[in-house]
Amino acid sequence: MHKQRPSYDCAICNNGIEKTLQHLFFQCPLALTCWNMLQVTPVDSDSFFGTIESIKAQISSPMRNTKPQLEEWISSFG
Ligand SMILES: [Zn+2]
Repeated sequence: MHKQRPSYDCAICNNGIEKTLQHLFFQCPLALTCWNMLQVTPVDSDSFFGTIESIKAQISSPMRNTKPQLEEWISSFG
């Protein structure tokens, strides 16, 4: 048996993590580092696009103007 399974794992984490959009953009440590550099915290959402919306909101508004719910999230990330 030398059949290579199709690779759906994240190449960066190589952890058996399924390579979903959600992971690649918002959960992968590398992605989170990038968002951190942009001072954006991807909010975990039910859907990929829900998270996109949260990011758009953060980018379009100054950090000091964030909603309390968002501040909670950011502080939970240290
Ligand atoms: Zn990853």
